[in-house]
Amino acid sequence: MSSLHGGSVPVVALAVFQGLLAARHTDCRGATLLALESAATPCAAGRSAVAQDARYLEEVRALAADAGVQRAFRAIEELEPRTHGDLILLTEIPAPPFKEEQRAKRYAEMLREAGLDSVYIDEVGNVIGVRRGRSSEKTVALDGHLDTVFPEGTDVRVRIRGDTLFAPGIGDDTRGLVLVLTVLRAMNQAGIQTEGDVLFIGTVGEEGLGDLRGVKHLFSAEGPPIDAWIAVDGGDEGRVLHQGIGSRRYRITFRGPGGHSWGAFGLANPHHALGRAVRYFAESADGYTRTGPQTSYNVGRIGGGTSVNAIPFESWMEVDMRSVSPQRLAGVDSILQTSIRRALDEENAVRRHGPPLTADVEKVGDRPSGEIPSSTPIVQRAIAATRYFGTEPAPGTGSTDSNIPIAKGLPAITIGRGGVGDGGHSPGEWWLNEKGDIAIKKALLIVLAEAGLATRRPATP
Ligand SMILES: [Zn+2]
Repeated sequence: MSSLHGGSVPVVALAVFQGLLAARHTDCRGATLLALESAATPCAAGRSAVAQDARYLEEVRALAADAGVQRAFRAIEELEPRTHGDLILLTEIPAPPFKEEQRAKRYAEMLREAGLDSVYIDEVGNVIGVRRGRSSEKTVALDGHLDTVFPEGTDVRVRIRGDTLFAPGIGDDTRGLVLVLTVLRAMNQAGIQTEGDVLFIGTVGEEGLGDLRGVKHLFSAEGPPIDAWIAVDGGDEGRVLHQGIGSRRYRITFRGPGGHSWGAFGLANPHHALGRAVRYFAESADGYTRTGPQTSYNVGRIGGGTSVNAIPFESWMEVDMRSVSPQRLAGVDSILQTSIRRALDEENAVRRHGPPLTADVEKVGDRPSGEIPSSTPIVQRAIAATRYFGTEPAPGTGSTDSNIPIAKGLPAITIGRGGVGDGGHSPGEWWLNEKGDIAIKKALLIVLAEAGLATRRPATP
């Protein structure tokens, strides 16, 4: 919906949030060490200072004072034991990459139990629950991701020590799913009616090689109409991501006949070609990424070969590149492609006999980058709701489900799941419900501001 973009909103600078990078330094280091798929990136790119438009603070305050919303806030508090139980139940249903069916089925049942009549699982496995609004003029989606990074057979039982819950995937992003569910329960218990429709969504394929396939499907021609997108992923209470870090990943394989290292000497050697490719890529990419918008490159895995005295028949590598800028991402990608072609040509040119090598370049990941302006109402509403609960907003960048709508220029953000936790993507992941209700209330306020409360008028951009 174009009215939502609000790119020309005059911004009243009430507050400028600075110094956030320093304040979050510890989190950033931890996240980087763990090489988080979804959570590390805000740190890498730093945080932008964002001005607050006073109208959205007013809007959020008025919403929070509404009797129905107050009832929903109380419901969220009273639901805490249930929310706790839901988190354990869902965490203990494994959801490895590409195998989210079991958890999806249960999550769909939970949305039905929470009072939604229209709940379905789409062609790719996303769970979608529809809560109709009064006018249905607009559709707002609230999303958590079903998948974890953990392979089949991982012990996902929740261990409880004191108040802390330990289990792989408990925070990333099972808590996000439960937050989405609890917003629904609270809206129903409080009898809240919205103007627009609200979709409660659990997506597949957010992590790793899932390559955002769930959210890509939702924003394809086959998906439902969605005008605003709120993903819940990652830990920071103040998290308001409105920039998506894009990434491209390739598996590159050089192939030849292979043979004896003495007897077949002179055949083109796939490892030699790969070595050249890595050298040309790393040298050129280094120069390219030292200036301009932050961009990274990494040869992560290398393999192939049968024996020290055999010319290999194949040599492969896996490469990951990221950038906040689509142009820079395309630029570093083109350096990779050029390096592969040059290496292939050179290795083939020095062969003394036999057929030439081939190079197979397989794209195994493609996440678009992009940014929606911080003056966009959905960003302003999230910042206002964060401040309403006394937390400093931390706008920034990330690699989450929101990358897809953001890259399409649609209003989309990713907010934190609340509570405290760490160890995402590791077997020692933990989560603790410290004021976790605030993140749920905040998500509710953003949803209601976007969808419009049927009894109130939203702020007009
Ligand atoms: Zn996640």
